[in-house]
Amino acid sequence: MALTEFTVIQRYFARAHAARPDVVLGIGDDAALLRVPEGHEVAIGVGLLAEGQHFTPESPPESVGHRALAIALSRLAAVAAEPAWYTLALTLPSPDPDWLGAFSRGLRELAGRYHLALVGGDTTRGPLQVVVHAQGLVPQGQSLQARGTRPGDLVYVTGELGLAGLALLARQGEVRLGACERQAADYRLERPEPAVRAGLALRGIAGAAAGIPDGLAAGLATILRADGVGATLQAGLLPIPALLSDHLERAGGWVVPLTAPGDLELCFTVAPERQAVLEGRFAELGLSCAWIGTIDRVPGLRCLREDGTDIAPTDP
Ligand code: ADP
Ligand code: MG
Repeated sequence: MALTEFTVIQRYFARAHAARPDVVLGIGDDAALLRVPEGHEVAIGVGLLAEGQHFTPESPPESVGHRALAIALSRLAAVAAEPAWYTLALTLPSPDPDWLGAFSRGLRELAGRYHLALVGGDTTRGPLQVVVHAQGLVPQGQSLQARGTRPGDLVYVTGELGLAGLALLARQGEVRLGACERQAADYRLERPEPAVRAGLALRGIAGAAAGIPDGLAAGLATILRADGVGATLQAGLLPIPALLSDHLERAGGWVVPLTAPGDLELCFTVAPERQAVLEGRFAELGLSCAWIGTIDRVPGLRCLREDGTDIAPTDP
């Protein structure tokens, strides 16, 4: 039986999502109505995935759902907002029950972990494309932005770098990984965890913050541009997992953790006098972050090897 737009919404999206008391009007009406607590600002982050560009017909549908929402959430994380609601705009060539079932599971599993409610969207025919808008809340004056750093601040990154990039290189045949290694790298690419808890932990501590979905160098560049400063990183301090270290040489060296896309981590800066508070808070919460360099006055990004030579991140 062909699925109509109405049944697709009812079966896969309308009933299956968490209810929140701050949703005054959700799926079923022309627009959602959401209650914003006094003294808060609403942050909006978008995740867009198009077949052929960001995933292929072979990509597991769970991962497509997961990633679209994870990207939107990682943008909320970068401004230190607490995720609350999201909408879904879906273009489908023809509704396939198996694909939709797995896709909505991927979305639901991630949304459930952050108590997010799906509050609306639109569904139509066309080339397969997924757009998620996530909304989050942040108390006035506590958001993080790309602006807010100065020379002498320390540069940090959350989590680990480069495993998603390694999976991409393996898919392109640029590196050969063993079966277990491939599985671990693919998992990081297909199920990236947005740094939501880290973003919240940075309220009141970080100077500036930015997401790094297009790579560390690109994320850090937005921070540097915002305040007209530069940064010098130490390659040896970049937090790369053992699996990537094993293949670093063949994968293209330090360029991978510096420029590979796909990691939904945050880079941020912190004034030296707040370093101990930062590290204490992350340790208390069981979160990881690594000090990778320092902000300086000379515009641009430098990344030094142990012998002091610079790795130009944009060089192939
Ligand atoms: P309309 O004819 O006004 O576009 P729809 O049948 O598309 O109405 O949508 C009915 C309701 O379902 C609306 O509240 C809309 O926000 C919601 N909706 C539509 N598509 C989705 C979707 N993919 N996910 C979640 N909610 C959706
Ligand atoms: Mg519609």
